[in-house]
Amino acid sequence: MKHSWQKELSQAIQTIEELEQSCTLTSEERAWKDFAASHDAESILRVRIPRSYFDLIDQSAGRDDPIRRQVVPTVEEMHELPEESGDPLAEDAYTIAPRLIRRYKSRAVFLATDMCAVYCRHCFRRRFAGKEVGPAAIAEIEQAAKVLRHQPEIKELLISGGDPLTMTDSQIEMMLSLFHENRPDLVLRIGTRVPVVLPSRVTEDLVQVLHDCSRVSPIYIMTQFNHPREIDRESIAALSRLVDAGIPLFNQTVLLRGVNDDADTLEELMNRLVSVRVKPYYLFQGDLAKGTSHFRTSLEQGFALELELRKRLSGLAMPVFAVDLPDGGGKVPLVPSRLVRQDGNRYLFESMDGREIWYSDVLI
Ligand SMILES: *Cc1c(COP(=O)(O)O)cnc(C)c1O
Ligand code: SF4
Repeated sequence: MKHSWQKELSQAIQTIEELEQSCTLTSEERAWKDFAASHDAESILRVRIPRSYFDLIDQSAGRDDPIRRQVVPTVEEMHELPEESGDPLAEDAYTIAPRLIRRYKSRAVFLATDMCAVYCRHCFRRRFAGKEVGPAAIAEIEQAAKVLRHQPEIKELLISGGDPLTMTDSQIEMMLSLFHENRPDLVLRIGTRVPVVLPSRVTEDLVQVLHDCSRVSPIYIMTQFNHPREIDRESIAALSRLVDAGIPLFNQTVLLRGVNDDADTLEELMNRLVSVRVKPYYLFQGDLAKGTSHFRTSLEQGFALELELRKRLSGLAMPVFAVDLPDGGGKVPLVPSRLVRQDGNRYLFESMDGREIWYSDVLI
């Protein structure tokens, strides 16, 4: 029997024709359709929008609606720049076993499935997402688990994809227990947009599976809320089910032009996340993924937003503004220094309200 979330997923909008029946396409959206029809399906990111998420779109806002921009493709995706790449973080080069990526000594990423509940038009892993590879086979999980057993310096495993929570409860349970069998000390992080785009997936049964596994070692859930309108009654209920079961929630927002690239929107988003017990973790500068330049903001604008947010938000509500460098350089925080100058053991800082204040360092 299909669960209601599986039914909801199968009834999601998955073709441009279904989209046309539900709304009036703009010319840029219609142009994507013509382009997609004449291109190899492998080279484009497919469409999927659950109905409940689609209903958050304000149709009167046209193409400028922040929800619509995240999920409805436009012809701008066909515009590729020379600095962009199909694999902007060089993940293929850092793959140490099937689906297992390691760029840092202390943590690794496992691509549990390529399937997502929604295909985000800004996705940086578009070379993999939605390519119908399917969930990892048991043999692949066992192989990754074996690598982890021999690499005890890997302390955290990020389970990503795709969206791992599109897998069934039993697939998830099996995967987590195979990882735990080899490494009961391994801290797990699950990266998912499901609480945002398909909150009905966060069933009591799923929460029970996660709760039981987190008795062995901690499981953190990393969501991706990009706009305050995504935090509605349904998503709040899904988040509550997780936190009430003792699963800590963090959020990674992607800074997206025309979606959330203004201080008021980001301030509201971060404060609302804190109010529903989610800690804002990262605010990401856009990766140099193929066909995503229409989503990227300039670094100069990003720095200005970071400064403004730091003035307005509490430390709890403030995410780290960061970029994942090309060529597998990893993440670096984009936080301008407040240090003005140094004079011996004395350091001059500029406070957030613009005053210059000395700090005397300890003499060792
Ligand atoms: C983002 C990422 C991590 C996690 O980085 P944190 O800064 O710990 O959140 C780990 N491995 C890879 C390959 C990543 O892309
Ligand atoms: S849910 Fe994540 S992996 Fe899937 S399309 Fe969106 S950003 Fe990409």
